[in-house]
Order: sequence, then structure tokens, then C-alpha cells
Amino acid sequence: MVDPNATGDRNAEASPWELLTLTGMFFCAIALLLWLLNFSVTWLIVQMPVRWEQQLGQALVKIYEPQAPPSPQQDELNALLDRLEANITAGTKEKRDYRLLYIPEATVNAAALPGDTVIVYQGLLEQMESENELMMVLSHEIGHFANRDHLRNIGRTLVIRTVISTIFGDASWLGDLAQIASAARFSQSQEKQADEYGLNLLYKTYGQAAGATDFFARMSQNLGANWDFLTSHPAPAKRVEHLKVLIQEKGYEVGEYTPLSETLTLP
Ligand SMILES: [Zn+2]
Repeated sequence: MVDPNATGDRNAEASPWELLTLTGMFFCAIALLLWLLNFSVTWLIVQMPVRWEQQLGQALVKIYEPQAPPSPQQDELNALLDRLEANITAGTKEKRDYRLLYIPEATVNAAALPGDTVIVYQGLLEQMESENELMMVLSHEIGHFANRDHLRNIGRTLVIRTVISTIFGDASWLGDLAQIASAARFSQSQEKQADEYGLNLLYKTYGQAAGATDFFARMSQNLGANWDFLTSHPAPAKRVEHLKVLIQEKGYEVGEYTPLSETLTLP
């Protein structure tokens, strides 16, 4: 039998336990509210038409354009990007038009700017040992666009900004800090999804998955000071493992490599 008075009588005085429970519940409610806010704001922003995102990205692209003078490398990289684009399933409602800016600088990095622009640095191209490996990096970047990761980050930034200024009053410098922190890189799960997207697109393009893990595998061993790609893409060894599991699960064949063209083979 359950004694109905087992817990009831204690309400007479507020014990420290009850205060603690109430405070805990209060913070849980706040956390839930924040989560809901983040979820709904992000959902709303992700519904933004691709056209708007492209306009938003234009300002950012203009900053990088002067650093990317016309070059044969840029033309060839754009042709590779077009090949990937031709293999993207028509799941998206709106037309994307990916383009690539090739920046002749030593940093080992590639990035996806909002507005369909992929940036590739010379330092990254120098690391590439096959066309397949390069295509995997490009496919991964396209994955960030397909999953609308930039917009998700903007959503998160907006929520963080609002919450910080509500709690601390006008502390815009904190907001700026939050923006920088959240815009600088994608979350681990966003990266994982971009890897999976990249693998699938690579497979569709070549009919096999050679080169899917090469760049991350090299990143996990042999690093120089210029490896900015590692800052935004941590834990390369884990990514290799994850990709290998995916390749096996999906039954993807791993075939022959396609060598890089002469233009893209850098000394
Ligand atoms: Zn990424």
C-alpha cells in the first residue's frame, strides 16, 4: 500500500531541498525555452529562399574576389565543380549556381561562403594527389550549401546575440564575439553530414568512391603551420573512420584514381 502522506506533509515549510528543486526546475524551463527559440528561429531562417541567401553572400564574395585573379587553375576547378553540380539530384526546389574562387596563397584551406561560392587556396591544391581526392573536398563543401549550414549558423548567432544582450544589457562586443565564434566553423554534426553528402556525390560522379578518405587521412598525419583546414575541420582520423564505415554500409566500390590534370598539378 502506498501511504498518501509520504511526501505531502513536508510542504508546511520550504526545505532547502524544495528550494533547490524549484531553482532546478526554473533553469530547466529556461533551457527548454532557449532550445525552442533556437529551434524555431533556425527553422524559420532555413526556409529562406536560395535567391536571398545568394544576395546575402554577395557582399562576402566581393571581399574575396580581388584575391582570386583569373587563372587557368580557377577555370579548371570551376569545370570540376560543374561536373559535380550535374550529378546533384534534383531534390532541391531552387536552382543553385556554384562557382569557385581560386586564391593563390599558401594556406591549406577550402571554404564555402554563403551564396554558392567555394573558395580553394593554392596550398590546398598543392596537397592533392588525385582528382578524386580534390572532388571529395569540393563535394564536402557543396554539402554545407545543400544542408543550409550557413543559415543554421546565422540562426544560432541571432539567438545567442539576443540572449546575451537580454542578460547583460547592451553588450554588443559580447554579441560580436558570439557571432565570430559561431560563424567561424560548423558544428561536428554539420561536418559529419557534409562528409556523408560529399561521399555520396563523389560516388555518383565516378561510380566508385576512390579518394573519399585520402585528404582527411593525410591531415591526421602530416601537418604544417598553414593547415587552416584543420581548424575548421577537426578530428580528421575520426572522419576517416566514419567515412570508411559509410563506404562499407553503402557497399560502395573503391576503384581507380583519376590523376589531376597538368594545370592542377602544382610543384
Ligand atoms: Zn566542412
